[in-house]
Amino acid sequence: MMFKAFLIKYGEIGIKGKNRYLFEDALMNQIRFSLKNVDGTFEVTKEQGRIYVEAKSEFEYDEVLEALKRVFGIVEICPMVQVESTDFEGISAAVLDYIDKTYKDKNFTFKVDARRADKKFPMNSMDINMEMGHRILEKFPEMKVDVHTPDVYFHIEIRNMVNIYSQKIPGPGGMPVGTNGKAMLLLSGGIDSPVAGYMIAKRGVKIDATYFHAPPYTSERAKQKVIDLAKQVAKYSGPINLHVVNFTDIQLYIYDKCPHDELTIIMRRYMMKIAEHFAKEGGSLGLITGESIGQVASQTMHSLACTNEVCTMPVFRPVIGFDKQEIIDIAEKIGTFETSILPFEDCCTIFVAKHPVTKPNINVIKRSEQNLEEKIDELMKIAIETTEVIECY
Ligand code: ATP
Ligand code: MG
Repeated sequence: MMFKAFLIKYGEIGIKGKNRYLFEDALMNQIRFSLKNVDGTFEVTKEQGRIYVEAKSEFEYDEVLEALKRVFGIVEICPMVQVESTDFEGISAAVLDYIDKTYKDKNFTFKVDARRADKKFPMNSMDINMEMGHRILEKFPEMKVDVHTPDVYFHIEIRNMVNIYSQKIPGPGGMPVGTNGKAMLLLSGGIDSPVAGYMIAKRGVKIDATYFHAPPYTSERAKQKVIDLAKQVAKYSGPINLHVVNFTDIQLYIYDKCPHDELTIIMRRYMMKIAEHFAKEGGSLGLITGESIGQVASQTMHSLACTNEVCTMPVFRPVIGFDKQEIIDIAEKIGTFETSILPFEDCCTIFVAKHPVTKPNINVIKRSEQNLEEKIDELMKIAIETTEVIECY
């Protein structure tokens, strides 16, 4: 393998002024985290507006690319060759060798784009462009120069070392996780909530998660499915502390005391309250759900307003305006879809009414909840105390 290093380009985080180093450091940490699961030893360093990943051992090229493609904040990944910046002869030989090995078919147009950060280097950028262009044409007569719309740019950056690269593999964009606080994801086993978590993490937010299960009505396998989903999201977001709440007694109590067409809404309100408890405890500043307007009865505007009413934190619903297919497309891209469609029961579907209210009235709901006054605080307390926390990564 010719490539021993990758140049990492970042977009938005480049413009954060004096805080830039914080963003760079967060990005470097996330890169290191994502490379932990890849065979090999890697060093992640930075140099003025550039982050480098250098392999210090043998490694699988595709595996490293896959890992880097999951790091939010990365806009482009450029496999590069690095050589000493002592003299032009050495650089030129390295560039020719690079081209020969990277491009089997040489029928394309190119432009040399040299940048001289090290002003002590005896040739200026224009000279390097000209001279290198000549040498490329001499060695590979099939290639042609096109200075306006070349097929390929050969970048030669003269810095501490000389970076030679031409390939630009798109990264996921977004902001490095850890630069924007933390939020609590209500993670079910469905398609939508893992996507919602991914989308908020993409903006730099660290994620915790809460899952409500209802044993024995929901199985161990349903729980394992949610753990697997959390692990898949964690490949992008970094480790997720998954809170697994036993919700059975609360659900049975609501079932017993409240009108059945209001079950889902009332249940949802208690889910939000409990998730918010763990959010506050863990330093999260908001909640995240996979709700999308109108998808089901519990996600009409009226229902969302009712659910929202119990929350004191902002609730982020990043897929709110998406159609199901648009959510599925993202689920497939991030690798959660296959797991999400496994057919295990969900705690909400078990206690669901045949005809749930679609326009719940908040005052009516609150009145129904008065039927719960006797035991609900105690049940909530027990649910919170018996919650299991699983670190997913
Ligand atoms: P999803 O595909 O995410 O399960 P859904 O289309 O099934 O969503 P609902 O069942 O109405 O929709 O759930 C709406 C949102 O409420 C979910 O996206 C999730 O954020 C939260 N939620 C629902 N059930 C649970 C649960 N058992 N544990 C944690 N959160 C849940
Ligand atoms: Mg669901």
